[in-house]
Amino acid sequence: MFWQKDIELMDKEQLRNTQLDCINKEIKIAKRSEFYKKKLSNIDKISSLDDVKNLPFTTKEDLRNSFPYGFLATDLQNVIRLHSSSGTTGNPTVVFHTAFDISNWANLSARCMYTAGARNNDIFQNTMGYGLFTGGIGFHYGAERLGMLTIPVGPGNSKRQIWFMQNFKTSVIHILPSYALRLFQTVEEMHVDVKRDLNLRIAFIGAEPHSEEMRKKIEELYNIKAFNSYGLSEISGPGVAFECECQSGLHIWEDYVYPEIIDKDTLEVLPDGCEGELVLTTLQREAMPLIRYRTRDLTKIISEPCACGRTHRRIARITARTDDMMIINGVNIFPIQIEKTIMSIPEAGRNYIIEIFENNFMDKLCIKLEIDNENFGGTLRDLEKLQNRLECELKQEIGVTPVIKFVDAGSLPVSDGKAKRVFDLRNKNK
Ligand code: ADP
Ligand code: ZN
Repeated sequence: MFWQKDIELMDKEQLRNTQLDCINKEIKIAKRSEFYKKKLSNIDKISSLDDVKNLPFTTKEDLRNSFPYGFLATDLQNVIRLHSSSGTTGNPTVVFHTAFDISNWANLSARCMYTAGARNNDIFQNTMGYGLFTGGIGFHYGAERLGMLTIPVGPGNSKRQIWFMQNFKTSVIHILPSYALRLFQTVEEMHVDVKRDLNLRIAFIGAEPHSEEMRKKIEELYNIKAFNSYGLSEISGPGVAFECECQSGLHIWEDYVYPEIIDKDTLEVLPDGCEGELVLTTLQREAMPLIRYRTRDLTKIISEPCACGRTHRRIARITARTDDMMIINGVNIFPIQIEKTIMSIPEAGRNYIIEIFENNFMDKLCIKLEIDNENFGGTLRDLEKLQNRLECELKQEIGVTPVIKFVDAGSLPVSDGKAKRVFDLRNKNK
């Protein structure tokens, strides 16, 4: 079942030809902006997709340096919306959209949701933040385009979320994976039985890195299917890549973006199947085309055919952002390695933070974990056993032995937006 069968099943060669045409159109539009007028001064068009690798990259820094209007490629009177990134890694960047861009994005979001099985008789509860953040409003438009009854609850207020779920029989939810786990605490406190009292069947989880183990945990807790949703505000927002019913990698919509994977150090383009930084070129944007935008997200392209029949290639689950890497006494560690170990141990709870500090000129990694009362017997001996098991399994996964500290459920800091897991306290001690 397809939202746009002709596009989703497009013959590979036709898809490549379309991409080439679109890139050349995007170059032409982009050159109306101050930034690309200079950057692409000696390029008018490319003659094959092989030439994409000769186009210059665009970075987050470029976007910041050209603030506010340096990337705008159309008259202001054609622009109807401004969005901004969450600013997770520094000053936010600004993105503009024409009415065509917004409509196109809504269609793409609808395609994603349909791909994962949502239909117009579903009740859609959107717990993502509305406003400058693209997570909420992006899928809101997509859900309405698909024809679902859309409940724009926004983030937080867990009791109200559950109240809506119960009263309106929400069947599809859009939620941050970290929030899905925290919300379950309220489900338990309210003695809600997910099978008896709720009607949930699908969750779209994304906007932040999460492991396969975390997805499984969410699926088990709520008795649903959870689909990985990838996007970034620079390329519109959610909807850029999405899992189909096969749940094995995210189809990156190749009529909308041209994906490449590069080695983040040498900047060479890597073949499909190799992990590196995802680089995206927009193919249909009017207000603000982006050429070879370096996402800083690490993944690989899966080019093997998908059982669903869609011809658009897939990307693997994002393992991390390049700037998420922690260096602990010279060892490189990504937070997701820690998460997947924690999530694979049922008693280990659902919420955690990672603290890094310095002691006697050595880095120390401390993991604070909320204990899951439901799954944990609670004797001191059990606690010690769990601590040892976590230390051992984490040492195996990351090569560093962390200090494990258990804390009460609900005591760790939370935010309405993306979870902040890593607290690097090293500079403060210097
Ligand atoms: P910010 O970069 O400030 O967080 P955005 O709100 O635009 O701003 O977030 C986009 C980023 O969120 C992506 O570049 C990626 O790092 C992360 N992200 C989005 N979806 C996913 C996902 N499904 N898995 C992992 N990371 C994701
Ligand atoms: Zn598929």
